[in-house]
Amino acid sequence: MSEEPGGGTESDRPRTLGALRASGYATCSVREEMRRNLLGMLARGERLLPGIIGFDTSVIPEVENALLAGHHMVFLGERGQAKSRIIRGLTALLDPAVPAVRGCALHDDPFRPICRACRQRAAAEGDALEIEWIAPRARYGEKLATPDTSIADLIGEVDPIKVAEGRYLADEDTIHYGLIPRSHRGIFAINELPDLTEKVQVGLFNLMEEKDVQIKGYRIMLPVDVVIVASANPEDYTSRGRIITPLKDRFDVQIRTHYPRTLADELAIMDQELPVLDHAGRAVHVPDFVKEVVAQFTFEARACPEINQSSGVSVRVTINNCESLLSNAEKRAVRLGETEIVPRMTDLHALYASTAGKIEVEYAAEERSEAEIIERLLNRAVLAVFDQRFKLEDLTPIVAHFEAGWGVEVSDVMPAEDYLEGVQAIPGLRDAVRRLGPFESPGFIAAATELVLEGLHLHQKLNRDSEGARWSYKA
Ligand SMILES: [Zn+2]
Repeated sequence: MSEEPGGGTESDRPRTLGALRASGYATCSVREEMRRNLLGMLARGERLLPGIIGFDTSVIPEVENALLAGHHMVFLGERGQAKSRIIRGLTALLDPAVPAVRGCALHDDPFRPICRACRQRAAAEGDALEIEWIAPRARYGEKLATPDTSIADLIGEVDPIKVAEGRYLADEDTIHYGLIPRSHRGIFAINELPDLTEKVQVGLFNLMEEKDVQIKGYRIMLPVDVVIVASANPEDYTSRGRIITPLKDRFDVQIRTHYPRTLADELAIMDQELPVLDHAGRAVHVPDFVKEVVAQFTFEARACPEINQSSGVSVRVTINNCESLLSNAEKRAVRLGETEIVPRMTDLHALYASTAGKIEVEYAAEERSEAEIIERLLNRAVLAVFDQRFKLEDLTPIVAHFEAGWGVEVSDVMPAEDYLEGVQAIPGLRDAVRRLGPFESPGFIAAATELVLEGLHLHQKLNRDSEGARWSYKA
């Protein structure tokens, strides 16, 4: 940022209250600071929350409005909808550095300290009061709410021994501060808000509304300046009795997140989030149609009545499934000494393990096993991707070849070179493979061949016997 206080570099920043005052620096509330920085970004045409995909016309405009208005926000959404990431991304709206009283656990504003120790120091030291500069990451706190989360965790605890020593009740020397006061002048995120007990919700409300709080019966003034952002599953949030009404009223805006609305967004998130691994010099090539099967599988799962949709099917299912598929393909490449890693349909069994823990099968559907549900969704995904690219009548020559008595076996351990023979021998297969993308490499041909055969099988044009990841096709 160009507006360095004192007009200089980091080392020139004022180190005492007197120097800070002389520099003309003025502190402001965290809301004002975020609003000013957002207005600056908007004026420069910069995007809030870069890297958040698929929320350009839904979530992001609402976040912008809430920030400009200084509203408390609650994000409602099912799992894996980037809620935490959005909330953490709000720290980009904090100044690169703000001055605070040196050594204060609350990062007190040197002009307006709220803790007693700092007020005493300010009174005693005057302009010599030492200050330090605080980065955005030190001004962000978060907590995953659970029924065990206590007032002590969030707000603080009174040390009864010190109270018994005769100190004044509102004497902050008797308080051990919790997470929210420690986020003073910053952002505090509380995830899964409805999991807080009613008592803790009351404490949170009092802090947000009255700037004071009861700790073990002692009333304590705590004028913290903090933007509280919450997240919750929508069903939990709206369930009667899960959130006390005054606290619900205190959140000015509810922002509903959602899963990617298009396959293209799901794919873009997958591409962005896949970790870059060292593949020991092997080229990794995931054909578009393979990626689409993975993303389409997640879309099918989100529409499946046998899966609990109120807990949802995270985008992480897509990402982890793609990783599993790549791992299975990488093992093949390493074992066979191939130079290219290309996942194919016979690798799809790797998705069972990476999907299973992330979906909840509905009680009523439990007689149908999770594996059966996953298999059906996978078949639908393959079929959808196949149907996008092929018309059955165009593949008649391939089916005719099988009807003449030929059979083909494929598997996840077969060398890619072995598929070349099939492309040469089976009339029409070369054209079909070419339609799936540039005719580049044996690995690609293997993957494309498997999509064609599996699509024909799912359309009941070919029979398939399977033994694990070894599939034999016959007419
Ligand atoms: Zn302080």
